[in-house]
Amino acid sequence: MRRLFFSLIMGACTLMAADAEQPLVILVSIDGGRWDYPEKHDAPFLQKIAGDGARVERLTPSFPTKTFPNHYTLVTGLRPESHGIINNKFYDEEFDAWFGIGNHPAAREGRWWGGEPIWLTAQRQGLRSACMFWPGAEADILGQYPDEWRRYDGKMRESDRVAQVLEWTGRPAEKRPHMITLYFEAVDSKGHRFGPDAVETKLAFHHIDDVLEDLADGLRKQGLWDKAHLIFTADHGMTFKDPTQVVALADYIDPESFAIVTLGATGGLSAEPERIPEILAALAKAPHLRAFERSAVPTRLHFSANERIPDIVLIPDAGWRVMLHSPTAGMGSKDRGDHGYDNREPDMGALFIAHGPKIPAGQALSVTDNIHVYNLLCALLGIEPAPNEGDDTLLQILAP
Ligand code: AMP
Ligand code: ZN
Ligand code: ZN
Repeated sequence: MRRLFFSLIMGACTLMAADAEQPLVILVSIDGGRWDYPEKHDAPFLQKIAGDGARVERLTPSFPTKTFPNHYTLVTGLRPESHGIINNKFYDEEFDAWFGIGNHPAAREGRWWGGEPIWLTAQRQGLRSACMFWPGAEADILGQYPDEWRRYDGKMRESDRVAQVLEWTGRPAEKRPHMITLYFEAVDSKGHRFGPDAVETKLAFHHIDDVLEDLADGLRKQGLWDKAHLIFTADHGMTFKDPTQVVALADYIDPESFAIVTLGATGGLSAEPERIPEILAALAKAPHLRAFERSAVPTRLHFSANERIPDIVLIPDAGWRVMLHSPTAGMGSKDRGDHGYDNREPDMGALFIAHGPKIPAGQALSVTDNIHVYNLLCALLGIEPAPNEGDDTLLQILAP
């Protein structure tokens, strides 16, 4: 009897020890959540969490400052030219196929996605992962999916997404995921339509702030708030766009001399090699636009070393967009916000707040690149990172 009691106690201790040692990291993306939104849009929960943890003044996204490239940079530590998701839309000559977002089937094929995302790094080292949406989470990258994932559905209510995360964290320790992603698009959507300063964007940010507080309350009820590490971040920011500010390519170059890959806040053209010099010379005359041959994109943008990058890369000034023709008066998009621009534009900067037992309160870091987030996730999970382009910059927020 005494031996049985002893072994029961030992068993319980081992379980408790395992529970205490189990890492729990939740990576939250508020798409289009600009670095200054918590104050600008009065978000009490995020402001409080920032004070109780660490805040990066502004997280610099990778170029182009678009959703898919940057979400995948956050979870791989690789820049878009290295992980291969070089934009939301691009063409791959070897595959003779297009990649796209939304409901595009390519986004679910592992062959497009380079590097090793955090959910696979975790699984390879014996941990469990679950993705409540994240670009790449639906693809068989390196032949493997996250242990749990949901097919992207932009209409799924934010509260249901939080409820799914809490269902995962509420599981017994031996079944609980260690690495969880959580994604929200509402702030980006309102930012595009109404602009970063609009009341609609403010309300969307408030709403996300509220559901994140519900997440924290749920974790508290599960006794996990003091054990969990949470990172609240974003893929890029948002800047005001005047819909009349258009660089019309056809005003400068013959539309027959190139093919369009993408237009908008960043653009890409493909052209025969012999036509490229004349196209670049003509576009050099276009105000509010910089045009580069792929090999000549400024080094700081790290946007040359991948065949998927279009022959000509177009970077309009913030607030402008590249189109083929100027829209006729009264027609065209009325959107008041955009992103995709040069990552040096302060408005492209993303928010970054980290909270948890290993992160002492009240830390403020200056501007930091988003390639460093992956190494922080690995450190919080206690696992070895896969080769990546980040360093230990963000590890300085951890208690010694
Ligand atoms: P962007 O055009 O760069 O502003 O992209 C934002 C949009 O990406 C969102 O509004 C969604 O429509 C889409 N999106 C975000 N995450 C996913 C996902 N995991 N799968 C498919 N589409 C997504
Ligand atoms: Zn985005
Ligand atoms: Zn967007």
